Amino acid sequence: MKYPEVQNYIGGSFFHGSNTKYLDVISPIDGSLLSKVPISSKEDLNHAVTKAQNAFLTWSKVPIKERVQVFFRYKVLLEKHMLELSQLIQEENGKTLDEARAEIEKSIELTEFACSLPQMTGGEILEVSKGVECRTDYYPVGVVACIVPFNFPSMVPNWTIPNAIALGNTMILKPSESVPLSAVRIAELLKKAGLPDGVFNIINGDREIVEAICDHPGIEAVSFVGSTKVAKLVYARASSSHKRVLALGGAKNHLIVLPDAHPSMTASNVAASMSGCAGQRCMAASVMVAVGASEKIIEQVCVEARKIIPGQNLGSVISLEAKERIEKYISEAEEQGATILVDGRNIVVQGKENGFYVGPTVIDHVNTAMKVATDEIFGPVLSIIRVKDIDEAIAIENASPYGNAAAVFTQSGGMARQIIERASAGMIGVNIGVPVPREPFSFGGWNESKFGVGDLTGKSSIQFWTKLKKTTTKWNPEAKTNWMS
Ligand code: NAD
Repeated sequence: MKYPEVQNYIGGSFFHGSNTKYLDVISPIDGSLLSKVPISSKEDLNHAVTKAQNAFLTWSKVPIKERVQVFFRYKVLLEKHMLELSQLIQEENGKTLDEARAEIEKSIELTEFACSLPQMTGGEILEVSKGVECRTDYYPVGVVACIVPFNFPSMVPNWTIPNAIALGNTMILKPSESVPLSAVRIAELLKKAGLPDGVFNIINGDREIVEAICDHPGIEAVSFVGSTKVAKLVYARASSSHKRVLALGGAKNHLIVLPDAHPSMTASNVAASMSGCAGQRCMAASVMVAVGASEKIIEQVCVEARKIIPGQNLGSVISLEAKERIEKYISEAEEQGATILVDGRNIVVQGKENGFYVGPTVIDHVNTAMKVATDEIFGPVLSIIRVKDIDEAIAIENASPYGNAAAVFTQSGGMARQIIERASAGMIGVNIGVPVPREPFSFGGWNESKFGVGDLTGKSSIQFWTKLKKTTTKWNPEAKTNWMS
């Protein structure tokens, strides 16, 4: 075992869970045992909530301009430890080192945004009638809990940590049990950056601890990022105990390629979108809807896909179970009559024979009844559906229950505008295969890709992480009295 057992982080110290149950943390690159992660008990959660509640009493009173000083220092620490943090992500998640580094760069960007929050939370003041003024102030919510998935061990926790904490909340993070090691380093760096003990805590575990978080009366808000199945459960359960909840779910993203699309730009974008992070991104291209004459672009997508080599510029998928699931989808599509143009099944990477690799896969002549057209595969697989016109393309995109991202590839502004207006997704790309909005714009999908109001990142997150107080004031006794004052 390369690393010691993961511990919970509560009140500024690391603790073994009170339970004796542990899960293995396996490196998907080579199948080796990296560590073990505890299945925490309700008592461990109570301990974390108590520490976070105590810390809230003082942290929430610190002016925001002082609170963000921690994140100025945290940003510098992320920069300083870039290589080490990226290597750890690569080991536990399996993505390439470049992709892991990009994740830290994104974490830095998210932290920079949090440092600008004092400028965005000034509130408003207005004289609403003669001598009477109204003002608004943002107040933190309290103890908040963030439950995160395996695919971005640093970026997704950092979607919430800097904003929620800078806005005065104290936090309990529940990392994915598959990738709990990066969270340990996040805790260490936050402490080094001067974050007071108890403001940030980590509780490890799986389903049971998530349910305990949803039920805990001391937690005021829950954010969740993961699959739609679990997002629905968390949203329903945490809402029923009167918490505010934002639950981001899975995705099935459609890239609509029009006949006038720029061939090489489109092909490289589509191939990169479907294979980046081994397709384990909620923003990954999953279906290419090819409108009209598209033979040449499909050929070029295959050329680009063949340049993506497992173990070199393509990382592993998270587990053997994931590899088998993805390969089953490909085989089923083949049995149902689809054409496998590029086949990523049965890949063995030399020197990493025990790793969980799936090569880039392009499946042509997919129809809407096939599972590869409708299910979130979460692997480097692109399903191509050929259609005659934009109406047919939009109908396919609109029929998906998800709605995270969609993209259009075209050189016509008018055509692009039509797709932007008619696609049922929260994030749209025009000639961009992974249309992640950058701060201050917020990240968030529609339909079954997100449950709850608002977004978790960017400006929109201020509403989720704060409560608005409205104060109406009159100092001058001569001011005219009206019906309300
Ligand atoms: P997951 O839903 O299996 O797990 C997410 C979290 O929920 C983990 O911390 C896990 O421990 C916990 N969990 C798992 N099963 C649970 C259950 N039955 N009850 C309560 N908690 C449970 O997701 P994952 O496999 O870790 O991540 C991949 C998924 O996340 C994909 O569907 C992907 O699209 C999605 N995702 C979405 C976004 C987004 O912004 N919409 C971003 C990243 C990932």
